[in-house]
Amino acid sequence: MNNPKETTDHGSASHHPPPPQPPPPSRYESQKRRDWNTFGQYLKNQRPPVSLSHCNCNHVLEFLRYLDQFGKTKVHLHGCVFFGQPDPPGPCTCPLRQAWGSLDALIGRLRAAYEEHGGSPESNPFGNGAIRVYLREVKDCQAKARGIPYKKKKKKRKINNHNPNMAQDDQVMIKIPKLE
Ligand SMILES: [Zn+2]
Repeated sequence: MNNPKETTDHGSASHHPPPPQPPPPSRYESQKRRDWNTFGQYLKNQRPPVSLSHCNCNHVLEFLRYLDQFGKTKVHLHGCVFFGQPDPPGPCTCPLRQAWGSLDALIGRLRAAYEEHGGSPESNPFGNGAIRVYLREVKDCQAKARGIPYKKKKKKRKINNHNPNMAQDDQVMIKIPKLE
């Protein structure tokens, strides 16, 4: 007893599986792309503009310092009464900085992006020893000052379990290869 309404004389394409689609970029990949664009924009805004082939580790260091103005981590200065306190009882005028962990992860992403865009590993400014030294200084300084993420009510603070004294901005929790 065939029901004529169920014959398959229409919509024949509907039985084919959909063509495979590329997976959406991972959080790491999209962050890397954003970072790369930000850095490219930064170089373009220099006077005179710096081309990627002329970019060296000094530009990278300047870029890292430039990013501090957008930081969310309170890093107490030596003269501050809260210096060394993980949880100060009151406000102070010490500057907000980029947390060491954020900068470290950022450099890892940019280092990878540089080589993906045709840069050679030998001349990779993000892999330069000067960057490593700078990051270590920032890390030590923030550990002593007990830099803690500036609290905002919208997000919970994430603590790095291995190193509870070390501040991390909460958007960067991705492990990257160590800059050795
Ligand atoms: Zn302070």
